[in-house]
Amino acid sequence: MAGIPNPEIKYTQLFINNEWLDAESGRTFSTLNPATGEEIAQVQEGDKADVNKAVQAAREAFKLGSTWRTMDASQRGHLLYRLADLIERNREYLASLESLDNGKPYLDAFNIDLGLVIKCYRYYAGWADKTHGKTIPMDGSVLCYTRHEPIGVCGQIIPWNFPLLMQAWKLGPALATGNVVVMKLAEQTPLTGLYVCSLIKEAGFPPGVVNVVPGFGPTAGAAISEHMDVDKVAFTGSTEVGHIIQNAAGSSNLKRVTLELGGKSPLIVLDDADLDKAVELAHFALFFNQGQCCCAGSRLMVQEGIYDTFVEKATARALARKVGNPFQAGIEQGPQVDELQHKKVLGYIKTGIAEGATLRAGGSSWGDKGYFVQPTVFSDVTDDMTICKEEIFGPVQVIQKFKTVDEVIDRANRNSYGLAAAVFTRNLDNATFISNSLRAGTVWVNCYDVLEAQAPFGGYKMSGIGRELGEYGLEAYTEVKTVTIALQQKNS
Ligand code: NAD
Ligand code: MG
Repeated sequence: MAGIPNPEIKYTQLFINNEWLDAESGRTFSTLNPATGEEIAQVQEGDKADVNKAVQAAREAFKLGSTWRTMDASQRGHLLYRLADLIERNREYLASLESLDNGKPYLDAFNIDLGLVIKCYRYYAGWADKTHGKTIPMDGSVLCYTRHEPIGVCGQIIPWNFPLLMQAWKLGPALATGNVVVMKLAEQTPLTGLYVCSLIKEAGFPPGVVNVVPGFGPTAGAAISEHMDVDKVAFTGSTEVGHIIQNAAGSSNLKRVTLELGGKSPLIVLDDADLDKAVELAHFALFFNQGQCCCAGSRLMVQEGIYDTFVEKATARALARKVGNPFQAGIEQGPQVDELQHKKVLGYIKTGIAEGATLRAGGSSWGDKGYFVQPTVFSDVTDDMTICKEEIFGPVQVIQKFKTVDEVIDRANRNSYGLAAAVFTRNLDNATFISNSLRAGTVWVNCYDVLEAQAPFGGYKMSGIGRELGEYGLEAYTEVKTVTIALQQKNS
């Protein structure tokens, strides 16, 4: 066994003003272990009344003259560094809790998720005292400069596929730039985000700077996006809910909106690619995290000269994938996050078969309990099939054949999404031409899922609005103020 299979559950309440509170309604909801379907704990269910309380606490913490507003920017960075250190101190515990609540293999949670989380907080800690405005040359009778000011109360609504990492991507830039936060955790995976609240308090963030409300989308989530006193909403999740959030912002106070939504990212393999490497990375690109990645390489497009061999090797790799108990060392794939996702993925597999794709591996549920799905591979997939157009968000690899570079660019771009893409080739001209031609926020060449805190990430088209991470990620959390000062004229 790896990790702690039965981590103690310490925090199940709302975190407002650095205090633990029950929901106003007195209601709770259950969070499950997706590997067994059994309940882990009951969690306080926040809704509108609790969001209101959290917004008030945040507004108070953001008042002019408050501890947070007057804090030295370097000290803000110092608090973020401390938070990163505390998360590192609790790395084994947090990775275990993440694995238990979400179903991802413990070693992935420990090595990948926690590694990226700690780095993200440290990266943004460094920015706290390095993001500044400009002085602008104008007529000599004025002094003009810009200030990068925090937006204010930021509502942040996060999904269940990378609970700790999505929390870090949202809190890091928001806190580095001096904002205050009201965050809603995903109802499937509230436990690690709440534990981090205890570390936020221990690190020394003033009360009200970070407030976290677990609860459901249409209640707590909607209360944030419709709120008249929330200045910005940042959301990661489905495109469907992205529409709802943007509408809510539009019909309330025109709060700023950033969205990180779904994808159907093309992974293009040319005849001249390193075949074994491309097979392995295409496998990783799709199956990593049980296929539950917004940027999963979910449209695999292989050139005709290597297509048959590629399909054979990709099938063999999928059949060899080790599925099972997330706490067992060597396991590559755990369960889907819940019954709904499990059903949805199996539904897409049925549709793929009905629409005439060739099923090469998997195709059904795995095991006799929990929400596991067999690693599944379809070949001979055409552009009009549902499994080629819609986000499956599960361990289902979809392989297509193409002939020419121009053809594959055209077909890859004919999709409403534009989050990520990849090209595998040894030809530099083709690599450059294809990556420049794809309408996607991220293009990987001969690699996949290389996501670091310093490189921006986000979508073209219906994959989202704005960018997260990197220096660009700061823009989503600052207002630019222009100050122009008339100078006294000496010789007038
Ligand atoms: P979702 O979009 O419903 O949930 C994401 C977050 O939004 C959760 O915190 C949820 O409570 C909240 N939410 C839901 N309805 C809301 C509303 N009306 N107002 C405000 N917030 C609301 O996603 P889901 O139902 O958990 O998953 C459905 C599909 O979404 C998946 O199959 C997948 O295709 C996609 N998804 C994408 C990502 C991503 O990283 N981009 C993450 C999770 C799910
Ligand atoms: Mg859970």
